[in-house]
Amino acid sequence: MDTISRNTDSELVSESTRLVYEQLMVDGKVKAGLKFLEKDNENTAIEQIAITEIPSPTFQEQKRGLDYQRRLKEYGLQNVEIDHQGNVFGIRPGTGKGPRLVVSGHLDTVFPAGTNVKANNQNGIIFAPGIADDGRGLASVLTLLRAIEKAGIHTIGDIIFGATVGEEGLGDLNGVKALFENHKDIDGFISIEPGAPERIIYLATGSRRYHVTYTGAGGHSFSDFGKPSAIHALGRAIAKISDIQTPSDPKTTFNVGTIKGGTSINTISASAEMLIDMRSVSPAALSELEEKVLEIVKNAAKEENKRWETNEIQVDIKLVGDRPAGTQPKESIIVQSALASAAALGFKPILEEAGSTDSNVPISLGIPAATLGGGGDFGGCHTLEEYFDPTDAYYGVQKIFLTILGLVGVDKLSQPLLSKRP
Ligand SMILES: [Zn+2]
Repeated sequence: MDTISRNTDSELVSESTRLVYEQLMVDGKVKAGLKFLEKDNENTAIEQIAITEIPSPTFQEQKRGLDYQRRLKEYGLQNVEIDHQGNVFGIRPGTGKGPRLVVSGHLDTVFPAGTNVKANNQNGIIFAPGIADDGRGLASVLTLLRAIEKAGIHTIGDIIFGATVGEEGLGDLNGVKALFENHKDIDGFISIEPGAPERIIYLATGSRRYHVTYTGAGGHSFSDFGKPSAIHALGRAIAKISDIQTPSDPKTTFNVGTIKGGTSINTISASAEMLIDMRSVSPAALSELEEKVLEIVKNAAKEENKRWETNEIQVDIKLVGDRPAGTQPKESIIVQSALASAAALGFKPILEEAGSTDSNVPISLGIPAATLGGGGDFGGCHTLEEYFDPTDAYYGVQKIFLTILGLVGVDKLSQPLLSKRP
């Protein structure tokens, strides 16, 4: 681990970045930090379980947030505060005049209140809803903070460690949006999600999400036969949406994720609703798809009314999700640092396809940001069968550790690669 690996794609990593990483990799304190992360692997997994077992559905992250605040304080972070949105962040000041980098996981999970989140260890593999997404990110932030503290590393830039709320689903990135609204002095952002050490997400998929509700008078299925049905209108819409063709490049997708409605088997339904998710890396392709879907949704009400010669069925369309799309070049310093860090650990770095994570917001604002994998094997994210295997997971956090140090600079060793915003 003392030299830059031969795997480095020299065309991808600039000479100046590579030189910084050569300096970092031979430093005693940096080596001590890397060693600490390896030794802390099991402890990190234990903490990951403890955090995961505190239920934290989107919009109900308070309990886990308080617990997380306590942990951040315990490991020496200063001014650890919960903001009005529910984000928890504290600062580890640098020696001064350096850039300000945020390192963050997300507190929320997709699992509703009442979900059994107790961890179940099967031959070393931990099963629990949310254990990877984003139990891994939250535990990664804490072990990284400990490693920098224990190794006695003085950074030049400030590092803001913590976690956001509202990353998943209808949270609509409300945590990270508030963070960037209230802090105009953030120069870079790293989001930690489950993922392999070599993978780097640096492009942002945009999404638009709608809550659509059909309503009508309803009635008895036999005696009121002839009245339009909200469920039938919904069915018409879904059938047509299912047939839409979207481009694979730029990747553009749609999904009706949930449906709800009706009263009983023998009631003409008075209400039916669905949630629709649309995504694309291209803002233009996304709005084209959105236009088609909204047209279908409105027409379905008309068609159901026409079938029964009435105008009883109404449709209400509510925008419930708007995540910005964005791109940055491979030459962006945060991408460079992550690539060089992965290579320094002997991995062949892979630039991932666009993602939809907290990094979308800074990327859309032109602030260098990347979503990096916390290491370990994982699967079943967003399902009740979600699992995490902590074997060798420390490689993920080691990669992030090096990325952070390169970006903020280390006192008397390396200048920050990340620039302060003008
Ligand atoms: Zn996540």
